[in-house]
Amino acid sequence: MSATLELAKSLIERRSVTPDDAGCQALLAARLAPLGFACQPVDVGAVSNLWAERRSAQALDTGPLVVFAGHTDVVPSGPLDAWHSDPFKATERDGKLYGRGAADMKSSIAAFVVAAEEFVAANPQHRGGIALLLTSDEEGPATDGTVRVCEWLSERGIRPDYCIVGEPTSVARVGDMIKNGRRGTLSGRLTVKGVQGHIAYPQLASNPIHRLAPLLADLVAERWDEGNEYYLPTSWQVSNIHGGTGALNVIPGTVTLDFNFRFATASTPDELKRRVAGIIERHALDHTLDWTLGGLPFLTARGTLSRALEQAILEETGLATELSTTGGTSDGRFIAKICPEVIEFGPPNASIHKIDEHIALDALEPLKNVYRRTLEILLAGA
Ligand SMILES: [Zn+2]
Repeated sequence: MSATLELAKSLIERRSVTPDDAGCQALLAARLAPLGFACQPVDVGAVSNLWAERRSAQALDTGPLVVFAGHTDVVPSGPLDAWHSDPFKATERDGKLYGRGAADMKSSIAAFVVAAEEFVAANPQHRGGIALLLTSDEEGPATDGTVRVCEWLSERGIRPDYCIVGEPTSVARVGDMIKNGRRGTLSGRLTVKGVQGHIAYPQLASNPIHRLAPLLADLVAERWDEGNEYYLPTSWQVSNIHGGTGALNVIPGTVTLDFNFRFATASTPDELKRRVAGIIERHALDHTLDWTLGGLPFLTARGTLSRALEQAILEETGLATELSTTGGTSDGRFIAKICPEVIEFGPPNASIHKIDEHIALDALEPLKNVYRRTLEILLAGA
């Protein structure tokens, strides 16, 4: 059995539903320590975090610090009887490895550890450093995980140069897509106030739904930005609108609109808030407006790390990878604050968080080889 498959199976069989790490990080630390990694737990409350770092043995080393970031936690399995095999028993079937975390993202972690083993064995005198940043709080609130380790690193003056996040970014085949950024998310709730009354006496009431309608049309028509080289334009969508008492003869007193921006780096949350407020102002409505910032966007422009990954993917898979900023938020947004180049690369994501999550068995070796080849390009010297 390949070393990557064996380690992926060991991780899947640990029932690490957020925030429980279930011994995954101890297993990985035991594997990394003999390679010369200093392993430091950075636990916060119920969350397990691990920083494992191996530095060059060269006296005057100026090489970069390459970090692999990931999470050992998984989402709950959902109804067990819907699975075709136990989600916490790694099962090979029809050329696939089944189990919760098989794609998101225990196979990536296994692949990176084996890649590091192979790389260090072949290049014991490599330049720079290799580190793993692992958390058991990515799928949950993400408040005591990666963000806290990044603070811990900053306090110690540790500055990663390149970070590969092992999230499942591929679509049909390993390497067909990598992510060099993620959009931000900003939600708003607008309540427009009117005067409730009898529907037969509208002159004695003020209908907030009628007042909202032209404002809503303006918001829908607004072009928030043009995007940029890496991002599509910012999108604004209504997720809910509710008003009315349920009675057919009553003009309601209020109407509430819930909406969400998925915003590119071409706009900031403050700009978007100001512009929404300005559009509302034109309509002179009695209203309240509340905002929730879900996450800031990040972007890594084409550079050393994207070129290294593109080259490694081409050599190992024959694919010319696509750089993308689509999808939801990830822990990459926290790491981008302390690391100038952050790129996500992992296996196909079609089954993540689903019943019967899996990874193709023939995806494991290419995944590991791309990680190893990237380390060679960035750290082997020459
Ligand atoms: Zn994930």
